[in-house]
Amino acid sequence: MVGAIDRLVAGFRAFRARYYEQRPERMQELSAHGQSPDVMLIACSDSRVDPALLLGSEPGEIFIVRNIANLIPPYGPDDGLHGTSASLEFAVRDLGVSHIIVLGHSACGGIGALRAAISGEPDAREFMAAWTDIAADACPCGADGQVPSQPLVEQEAIRISLRNLATFPWINDRIAGGTLDIRGWWVDLDDGRLCEVDAITNVIRDIVAGSVRTHAAV
Ligand SMILES: [Zn+2]
Repeated sequence: MVGAIDRLVAGFRAFRARYYEQRPERMQELSAHGQSPDVMLIACSDSRVDPALLLGSEPGEIFIVRNIANLIPPYGPDDGLHGTSASLEFAVRDLGVSHIIVLGHSACGGIGALRAAISGEPDAREFMAAWTDIAADACPCGADGQVPSQPLVEQEAIRISLRNLATFPWINDRIAGGTLDIRGWWVDLDDGRLCEVDAITNVIRDIVAGSVRTHAAV
């Protein structure tokens, strides 16, 4: 247990050396004048898909919200505790980001839980089911009790989140005005692909050509 914490502290030491000692100007600028990222990214909380690591971003470059299964709920202004919607509001209305990317990934535990719940498996969790139900339409249960494959549900869930983005009036206005670009990406952890998810059709496109499989396809 201590080893894991020690590793994090060592990681911060390395961060401080890299950013505060070797080139302090950028951090001083960010601290004194605030952030102005162009990109907001909604990613999964999964430990394997840290956006800063995957995308090589620098401090101040991406405004990120991470939640289970990288989901965006529909616009619902009520007295609920809407953490993801609050992050969207700050990014769009205060920071004025120009891009919103929904970043999904393969082998997503949140989507796996949704598929299991729709398949009829008992769910003992208190909060996850209500949250992952945002993507329930991505996982229709057939007459035979079968649900779509894990990657198909992950990618359709991204499309649902993209549609939900447009239900926020101040996001829809920016999209309509051509000042906000929204897109969905899906990372295949198995072969190291980054794919663009078409917002309408079930097409995905390899953004970074060439895949590197970690093991033979089955
Ligand atoms: Zn996930």
